[in-house]
Amino acid sequence: SVPLGYFGGLGTASRKGILIKGGNYLEALNNTDTFVFDKTGTLTKGNFSVESYSSDEVLELAALAEQHSTHPIARAVMEAYGKAPGLHDLSGVEEIPGCGIKCVYRDKELLAGNEKLLRTFGIEHSIPATTGETTLIHIAYDGRFKGTINIRDEIKPSSIGLSAKLKALGAKKTVMLTGDRAAIAKSVAEELEIDEYRSELLPEDKLSYVEAMTAQGRKVLFAGDGINDAPVLAGAHIGVAMGGLGSDAAIEAADIVLMTDEPSKLIDAMHIARKTRKIVL
Ligand code: ADP
Ligand code: MG
Repeated sequence: SVPLGYFGGLGTASRKGILIKGGNYLEALNNTDTFVFDKTGTLTKGNFSVESYSSDEVLELAALAEQHSTHPIARAVMEAYGKAPGLHDLSGVEEIPGCGIKCVYRDKELLAGNEKLLRTFGIEHSIPATTGETTLIHIAYDGRFKGTINIRDEIKPSSIGLSAKLKALGAKKTVMLTGDRAAIAKSVAEELEIDEYRSELLPEDKLSYVEAMTAQGRKVLFAGDGINDAPVLAGAHIGVAMGGLGSDAAIEAADIVLMTDEPSKLIDAMHIARKTRKIVL
């Protein structure tokens, strides 16, 4: 049973746009030592813009493949393309979580996604070593590498200083997990002073990471925007979803929902949890 004092804490939290699904999660927040964050849509805005692309053909092929996807990457491609791509001769559209899109266009295989996707389908490719910190979408058609689209996301202002504040509140470790490439992961983790990062992860790798930490006896909080990470939210000691960007599945799987999508709300939740504990004890 949950001591009555925790209910007051839930009300205070909800007035700040923090939905906590039970007093036991306030108690759990006080015991959390490891804070794990998804990158896209959680620490960054998930609002990509296209910076450059190899050719008009590459952008058009990307738009064909991405037109039905709700992924933030797909939205950026469609915005840059600026018109409705053709629908005919397109079939078998399949979204591969953490990788990209596979479909058939004019009877030939069309791929739009990251290097992992190209490797999975055995596409020979040479990607110029980019110094810039952009996310890359590679296009392959009929077994051949066609080129790349460079897209850029921004760090949420609310993510800045988050790791340091969590540490000040007693966090032992902060971590960022992402399916994006290592160069971006490194730069975001460094800018946000996050202790550890892992890149090029599939959704199931994120769950494995959380499970491995838990097996070490850590109390793990995982915060995500929910695109492909509902199982990770459910698998953590505490799952935190972004309420605005988050999918229905994520909001349902989460124990705490941040209605404003601001990661800094976690700090408010921690303060409420501390205060509530003092009242309860
Ligand atoms: P994150 O782990 O940063 O939250 P996701 O798991 O949503 O990101 O995606 C991981 C990676 O998978 C992206 O960085 C991208 O390379 C690739 N990807 C996922 N969905 C798509 C898509 N619709 N089109 C192209 N690439 C995609
Ligand atoms: Mg994500």
